[in-house]
Amino acid sequence: MTHPQPFDQFLDHFRTTCHDSYRRRGDIDKLSMQRGLPPFMLREVMACNPLSVNIPLEYGGRGAKTDEILALLSAASYESLALSLTLGINSALFLQPLAKYGTDEARNLVFRRFLEQQNMGGLMITEPGHGSDALNMQTSFRPVDDGFLIQGTKHWAGLTGWADFWLLTAREQIREGELGRDIGFFICDVSQAEQHIEVEEFFDNLGLYQIPYGRNRIDVKVPELFRLQPHSTGIKLMLDLLHRSRLQFPGMALGFIHRMFDEAMIHTRERAVAGKKLIELDQVQHRLSELQSSYTIASAMCATSSKTAGIDKDLTTASVQANSVKSYVTDLMQQAAQSLVQMVGAKAYRLSHIGGRGITDSRPFQIFEGSNDMLYAQISEAFTKQMKSLRLANLKDYLKQHHLTTKSSDRIGRLFDFDLKSELTQRKLVDLGKVISRIVSMEMVIDLGENGFRKDLIDNCLDHLTNDIMTLLGVFHLPAQVAVVEDYKDNSQWFGR
Ligand SMILES: Cc1cc2nc3c(=O)[nH]c(=O)nc-3n(C[C@H](O)[C@H](O)[C@H](O)COP(=O)(O)OP(=O)(O)OC[C@H]3O[C@@H](n4cnc5c(N)ncnc54)[C@H](O)[C@@H]3O)c2cc1C
Repeated sequence: MTHPQPFDQFLDHFRTTCHDSYRRRGDIDKLSMQRGLPPFMLREVMACNPLSVNIPLEYGGRGAKTDEILALLSAASYESLALSLTLGINSALFLQPLAKYGTDEARNLVFRRFLEQQNMGGLMITEPGHGSDALNMQTSFRPVDDGFLIQGTKHWAGLTGWADFWLLTAREQIREGELGRDIGFFICDVSQAEQHIEVEEFFDNLGLYQIPYGRNRIDVKVPELFRLQPHSTGIKLMLDLLHRSRLQFPGMALGFIHRMFDEAMIHTRERAVAGKKLIELDQVQHRLSELQSSYTIASAMCATSSKTAGIDKDLTTASVQANSVKSYVTDLMQQAAQSLVQMVGAKAYRLSHIGGRGITDSRPFQIFEGSNDMLYAQISEAFTKQMKSLRLANLKDYLKQHHLTTKSSDRIGRLFDFDLKSELTQRKLVDLGKVISRIVSMEMVIDLGENGFRKDLIDNCLDHLTNDIMTLLGVFHLPAQVAVVEDYKDNSQWFGR
């Protein structure tokens, strides 16, 4: 069964509406200093029912097909990264977990409100005392009458004060002052009297001005049927949810990188310095080809995720793929914005320039849903653990037989013909994680090439990736144990020396 409206028509209409709304009726560059958006802009975009892509066919949506979701996120981020993240939050952090783990009662009510009234939903995990170590969250729940009482403080949830629904996370209060280990997930409908969430403070977020963030006090009673039903534990549900979300970052990244590239091409073709067009300069060619290669990598990741990240897949253990994709593609987003600003020069150092905004808007992608430093280290930990259990020490041998790196190891395996030390420091785990994320991505690029993507872009991209991998491998092999001198104030002034 498929949706009656063909997807290309749906996407074309969405793309044209975003373009008209953000660049004709509203001028996002002029509006860049304000927080929020003029209501007509969001109304016009939401009138296309973009979130229907996440809703199963039997509930009136387009069927939650990952390729459609990624294509939509990408179309949105070409116009505005904040718009794409708004849709991404609703998709991966709210509607998809509901579609997979919600009761029929919750799905019926919530999906109808999204389709008929353009409601929105977000996810609250982070707390002031617990960000990266979310498993130690202090928000608690306990059963009362025919529901659950949830109490605590959450901050930095995207769409604070704006979303109609929240997916709240909490640990069960077993006894007074004692919380269970597992995490529960609850759908909170803020339009209901006992489910109102008070925003104690709105934050002055550095970028993404169109998305409100803040600190929330939670003291709500949620009906029993609005708890998500994990297939085993809540922690596994959380891993499945986060891995699926990380695998969808390339959708948001692709449109953003594409826009940075197009803007860079327009500028460097027009701007002449000392009688030469910028595009004729060798270093500019290097930057442009690097940007284009990032576009190819994000495209390859989208193609892979559209096959591997559906809600029908169990992604609980997909940490290497999900963490590689999220950390690397978000580094590429930041690099793309930085590179555009470098090529444009002073003119881009303004909030009203898409490159300048791109730097601050893309920066938190390297922090949320797993800080990249942490994710890179986790990739290596997963790799070294598996190697130990298989009694393999040679990295080349392991890459050759790993399903995520078989083809890329044929291409660059010779670089990895060495034994890994059994204990690596955390900084070396991070260095190695960066290398592995690029090898995993190279495999995706090779697959994309085999599936008919244009050859010159694939070849250029593979050359860039090989260079990047060699550079990072050089860093990995460097000895590095320098630690910070904490008590550094004595005898450390240059003046008079
Ligand atoms: C724009 C934005 C949007 C967000 N959206 C949401 C949302 O929708 N919902 C939600 O629940 N939360 C959201 N967050 C919160 C985000 O997920 C957290 O900021 C993130 O998990 C990190 O937590 P923290 O900020 O408390 O940093 P901390 O946990 O204090 O960590 C700070 C830094 O320490 C380092 N670090 C921490 N642990 C390790 C480690 N083990 N190894 C190496 N380095 C480490 C990392 O560099 C890390 O960035 C958002 C944040 C931002 C900025």
